[in-house]
Parts: sequence; structure tokens; C-alpha cells
Amino acid sequence: MELDTLITGAQVIDGTGSPRRAADVGIRGGRIATITAPGGLAGATARTTVTATGRILAPGFIDIHTHSDVTLLDNPGGESKVHQGVTTEVTGNCSYSPFPIGAPGPEPMRGLLRSALDTSLPWTWTDLDGWAEVHHQVGISINLAPLVGHSAVRFAAGLADDRRPTDAELAHMQRLIAGSIEQGAFGMSTGLTLPPSSYGQTDELVALASAMTPYPGAFYASHARVWGGNHVGAVEEAAEIGRRAGVPVEYSHIAIIDTRAHGHPEQLTDVIDRALAGGLDLTADVYPYTAAGTGLNQFLPEWAQEGGPEAMLARLRDPATRARIRADSAKGWFRGLPWDFDSLVLSDLFTDRNRHLLGLSLAAAARDRGEDPLDTFLNLIDEEDNGAGIVAHNRTDPDMRAFLAHPAIMVGSDGNAISPDGPHGLPLRPHPRFYGTYPRILGRYVRDLPTVTLEQAVHKMSGMPAARMGMTERGVVAEGLIADLVVFDPATVADQATFTEPHQLPVGIGDVFVNGVAVVANGVHTGARPGTVLRRGMA
Ligand SMILES: [Zn+2]
Repeated sequence: MELDTLITGAQVIDGTGSPRRAADVGIRGGRIATITAPGGLAGATARTTVTATGRILAPGFIDIHTHSDVTLLDNPGGESKVHQGVTTEVTGNCSYSPFPIGAPGPEPMRGLLRSALDTSLPWTWTDLDGWAEVHHQVGISINLAPLVGHSAVRFAAGLADDRRPTDAELAHMQRLIAGSIEQGAFGMSTGLTLPPSSYGQTDELVALASAMTPYPGAFYASHARVWGGNHVGAVEEAAEIGRRAGVPVEYSHIAIIDTRAHGHPEQLTDVIDRALAGGLDLTADVYPYTAAGTGLNQFLPEWAQEGGPEAMLARLRDPATRARIRADSAKGWFRGLPWDFDSLVLSDLFTDRNRHLLGLSLAAAARDRGEDPLDTFLNLIDEEDNGAGIVAHNRTDPDMRAFLAHPAIMVGSDGNAISPDGPHGLPLRPHPRFYGTYPRILGRYVRDLPTVTLEQAVHKMSGMPAARMGMTERGVVAEGLIADLVVFDPATVADQATFTEPHQLPVGIGDVFVNGVAVVANGVHTGARPGTVLRRGMA
């Protein structure tokens, strides 16, 4: 037998949750051509042989929650992710997708989350097909699997403000969602603390999710309405939307950020368990850290963000409106959560004037500037043209581990595919989840602080997200499937990225294959760009 690549001596964990078994695996033509008992391919010839004795061979990880919508255009190698063994990035989360683009053009979306959605390339596309084409022209090392986002759809329909859509606007948005699904989006996402998505009431969301009902498997992914005091209601609303629209639900980055509810993960998992018992197809995802990461503008009152980023900046720059914003912000954030300025650490600042503040808390930055922290918060959004980003230390490890252990909860990083030396690299201080999520699960939460078994962990990173995405060709190691694969050492695999030094590649992950092509070999990026944009029903 002639093979492209032969992997010998591995313990195969196939992604279904089944126990590992010793096997040799042959790759040919981008697919897993054969799986045999050890030694069964002794007579085969292969251009490359990987000796994986003592190591695990698993499906490449499918990161169900990322914001790599355009980062690969500047960083096509996607080093932060491929070195973790991630072979597919699910994009378009939290209502942020780079399509559809309507009459207002791309600027509102680009300006909304500048740390992720700004690019050196112009946004020349208007729909999923055009966005995919640009990625294919650039050439990428990792696969992308897009969702369509509610904020993008609202901007495209001219609904940047806090009001209900007219019947005509609602029908327009439904067509935009159905059109994106037709082009291959796997589902739609919301960001219900993020304007303009947050301006959508439950009925609007049910109507929009219903546009997906004709498309089997197309699902509703929700960054939910986790305002202060609403951590349970947030999960209930996501389940309600799935039930009423008749679509599956993915509850994004489950966590408890309200300190008053820390220690009660069961309040959320009880809602999930009841929804499952009622027959709803609901899953969730979690990342293995006790901090969030987001744009600083997310902490502003919602009314101040109406109309998109330019209107928001204009309000901040108008003294009278600014005084109102300050007075409202002084009452707390997310509708009443108390400020803890020591817990909010600056991750993204792009101006020369402010870069020295990267890595400082808002409290420390305020001391540096001789200001009240509330003014530093507002000034940095203004001075950085809404590019200021933050890491928010606001959750607990026991809560996170309870979510990770739940059978309906998989892994998703909420991190992006970037390069240490690219425009998202130093001196920016992104959340370490960009570089460490998957090895951190395999090292810390399988080996060092056992929370899930290795087989469960691999399932939550591959077979389980593949099932949610309706992918039948990936996420499992089986003959005939596409060869997205990772080889790692279970004894040494570990994350290295920290909050103070996030741009650190993990250790223990030696070989990664995307569509049968090695993108990491012996721990080194090969420079290959075999990635492609995947489409619903064809992945
Ligand atoms: Zn989110």
C-alpha cells in the first residue's frame, strides 16, 4: 500500500469517547486511508512516517467558539491555534460575523471589536462566499467553519439602534440569515450583552432562529443575556428560543461572572438538564480559565452604544452626554455588577501614547494617569477609537470545572488564531486562552487536577463539537474520514501561555495534520496552508 503519511505506534483516541487502543494509521489523499493493528502496515510505503510510540493520536480539535473571522488574513499560519492541535476554527460567534455586509458597509462591524475584526486588508466582500474566497486567495493553515452573527445582520438591515424591527426589517433579517445558511453557515449567533444584538428581544430572536428551521442541524449559538442577577434567566432564554424556533442550541462560554452567584454552577446546569429532559438538543461550551476577555466598550451602558461604534465615540466626546455616561457607569456595569478595577487588566491598546499601560489593571492604569478609574475606563475607549481590550478576572475554578465535567458541555476557547509576531502579537496581551486552551485541558484538567478523563476531554474537543456542527467527515478517527489529526504526549502536554506572557506556544503537541497535510511536524510549523472554509452539510 502506498501512503502519504504513516503514523505508527500511537494509542488512538477516536473522539467518540471510546477507550484508547493501539493502532497504526495511514493517510492518503487527505483522508484516513487505513487503521490497522500495530504492525499491520509494515509492508506499506509512505513518503513520511511519524513514529508516535507513547503518544496519543486524536482527531484535530474543533474550536466551537472563536473570533478568528478575519485574523487569518493577517496571520495565515494561525500559530496560536494549530500548535494546540486545533484544525478547525468556528467563527461568527457572539453575533460578530464579517458578513452579511449591507448598505452601511463594513465599518460598523470592523469597529465593534477592533482587537479581532480589524485587518490590514480591506473588507471587499459582502457575503459568506466572498469572505471565503478572500481566505482561499490568502491561503490558510487551518479550517474555518462560519456562523452568521446577529449584530452583523442587524447592521446590514439598518437596525443599529435599540428598537424592535418592523415586519419588513424582520423579514429582511430572516432572508439574510437564510441566505447565509444557504451559502454554508452552520448556524446563527447572538451576543445578548453586545449592542446591537442585545437590542433584540426574545420574540425577534425566535423569529430569526426560525429562519433556520428548514435547514437540518443549523443551530442557534448564544452569548446570552448574562446581566447582573440574570445568570439563570440567560440560560432559560437560550433554551426557550431553541424550543420555540425548533432548532438546536449551543450555549456559548458558560460561566458565572456575578460574584454573588459564584459557587452555584448547578443553578445553570439544572436549566440545561431540564431542557435536555424536555427533548431539546442543547449543548454548551466552556474555556478553562477564570477570566474573560472582551472589548472595554462592553462595560458601557447599552444606550451609550446605540447606532454603532462611531455614534458611541461621538457620545463619549460630547461633554454633556459623557457626563450622563459617567453617572450611569458609576452605578456598575452589566446592569448593576459592582466594579472591581483591580480585576480588569488591559490587553489591547494600539496607540503609542497608551501602550505602556498594557498588562496593568484599570486601577493601576488610573494611578499611572492620575485619574479616577472610571475616567480611565472612558478615556481609554475614546483615545483608542474603541480598540481598548480587557481581560476580566471574574470567575472561579470550581465553577469552571463543574461545567467542564458536565456531559452536555464541550470545550471552546473564545480565543483567536493569531501569530506571536503578527499584528495581534507582542506587545498586546491577549487572553492566554488564545494559545493554551486545549493543552491546558489535556494537562491541567486531565492529568494534574483530574476533572475529565483523557477520552472525555478528546471527545469534548472533537467528536462532540463535530456533532453539534453536523460534520460527518471530521471530528472522529475512522477510515475514510478527512485526516484532521493531532499527535500529542499525554505525559508532557501542557499550556505555557500565562496572563502576563500570553504569546507562548504549548509543549507536548508534536504533529498536527489539516486535510491530511502536516501543518506542525515535530513541534514546528511547516508553513503549509491546507486550510479551507467549510460549509454546512459538506464538512
Ligand atoms: Zn461572547
